[in-house]
Amino acid sequence: MGMAPEFPVTATGYESVLSAVIERSVGPQAAEIDRTGAFPREGVQALGEAGLLGLLSARNVGGGGESLEAAAHVIETVGARCASTATVMLMHYAAVAVIEAHGPQDVRRLIARGDHLSSLAFSEVGSRSHFWAPIGTAKAGDGDTVALDARKSWVTSAGHADSYVWSSRPLACQKTAAGGAMTLWLVPGKAAGLRVAAKFDGLGLRGSASSPVSGVNVMVPADARLGNDGAGWDIAMVTALPTLLVLNAALSLGIMEALVAEAGAHLARSRLQHLDETLVEQPVSRAAFARLRIRTDGVRAFLRDTLEALATGRDDATLRVLEVKAVAAEAASEVADGALQLCGDAAFRKELGIERLFRDALGARVMAPTTEALHDFVGRTCLGLPLFDAARA
Ligand SMILES: Cc1cc2nc3c(=O)[nH]c(=O)nc-3n(C[C@H](O)[C@H](O)[C@H](O)COP(=O)(O)OP(=O)(O)OC[C@H]3O[C@@H](n4cnc5c(N)ncnc54)[C@H](O)[C@@H]3O)c2cc1C
Repeated sequence: MGMAPEFPVTATGYESVLSAVIERSVGPQAAEIDRTGAFPREGVQALGEAGLLGLLSARNVGGGGESLEAAAHVIETVGARCASTATVMLMHYAAVAVIEAHGPQDVRRLIARGDHLSSLAFSEVGSRSHFWAPIGTAKAGDGDTVALDARKSWVTSAGHADSYVWSSRPLACQKTAAGGAMTLWLVPGKAAGLRVAAKFDGLGLRGSASSPVSGVNVMVPADARLGNDGAGWDIAMVTALPTLLVLNAALSLGIMEALVAEAGAHLARSRLQHLDETLVEQPVSRAAFARLRIRTDGVRAFLRDTLEALATGRDDATLRVLEVKAVAAEAASEVADGALQLCGDAAFRKELGIERLFRDALGARVMAPTTEALHDFVGRTCLGLPLFDAARA
C-alpha cells in the first residue's frame, strides 16, 4: 500500500538498476518459477550483469563495496517479487562474505564481475539442522590435495552454483564435536565426486534448487581451505552467519510487505454490494489489516536496529544478529496466515499471489539456524552460557 517508510539505504546508484532488473526479468518469471520449480537462471544472470552478485565484493577486486544494509535492501526488494530468486541471492551473499575474507583473488574477481554464483553447503544428513557439527570429513590426499566426503542435506543453487563454501570436520580432528569444530573449503561446483541427489520439489521457495548434494572423494587442493583448519565456526560467526541471518530477515520482510500490499489492494477493490461498501469500510477487516501492518513495521524496526548495531559495533550486535531471523521468520508466518484469513477464498486461490507468498513465508523458520536453535542461542547468550555444550569425550 506504499505506507511503509523506505529502507534508509544511501543512494549509491544500484537501486535504479535493481528495479529495472526486477521489472524486466525477476518479477515476470516469478509465478512460472514457482509453478515449475525451475531455477531462476535468467533473473540471476540479469542480477549478475547489473553488478548485484558483486554488491558485497570489495572495490579493489572490482565489486560494489556495498554494506550489509544495501544487501538487505536488495534481498527485501527481490524477495517481495520472487522469494526463490532472493533465496539464491542471499545464500550467494553469505558465501561471498566468507570468500571475501579468506578466498582466492581470482574467484573474488569473478564474483565482483557477476560471473560466479556461490552458495553454502553446511547442513548435513547426519547432523540435520545442527550445521555447526559437521559429520563430513576432510582427509589429506596424495600430494597437496585433500579428499572431502559428506552427505549435505540441503544446498541452495545445487547443481547451478559455480562454487560451494563447504564445511567439514577439521583435518586434524576426525571426531564429531557437539558443535564448533569445523573447517571450511571452497569447492568448485563441477568438482568430480559431487552429485545432486534429487530435484528440489518443496512447498515454497520452489525455484531455489535447494537439493541434497553428496560428495564422495571430492579432491580439492589443500589451499582450497578457507581460513585455518578448525577455525570454520569462528569464521562463519563473523562472516557467513551475520550475513545469512540478517538477509534471511530481509527476505521475510520483503514477503511480508508483498502480503500486506496484496491484502490492502484486495480490501480496496472488493465490495459488499448489498451494503454498497468496500471491505476497507469494514472495521473488522481494517483492524485485521492493521495487525499485519504493525507486525511488518515491527520487523522493519528490528532489522534496522540490527543493522545499526552491526554498523556501529554496538555491544548488543551479536545478540541482535541471533535474534533478527527468528523475529522475522515467526512474524512472516503470522502475517502470511493473517493475510490468508483476511482475504479469504481469493487468497486461497492463486489469483492474488497470496497463496505463493504464504508458502514462501514458511521457509525461513525451518531454515537453519532454525527458530528453535536461535531461541537456544539467545537464551544461552543472555544467561551467560557458551553457544554449545562441551564436546563429548
Ligand atoms: C529452502 C531451504 C534452503 C536451504 N538452503 C540451504 C543451504 O544453501 N545450505 C545449507 O547448508 N542448508 C540449507 N538449508 C538447510 C536448512 O538450513 C536446515 O539445515 C535444514 O532444513 C534442517 O533440516 P531438518 O529439518 O531435517 O532438521 P532437523 O534438525 O530435523 O529439524 C527439524 C525441526 O526440529 C527442530 N529441532 C532440531 N533440533 C532441535 C532441538 N535440539 N531442540 C528443539 N528443536 C529442535 C528444528 O528447529 C526444526 O524445526 C535449506 C533449507 C531450506 C528449507
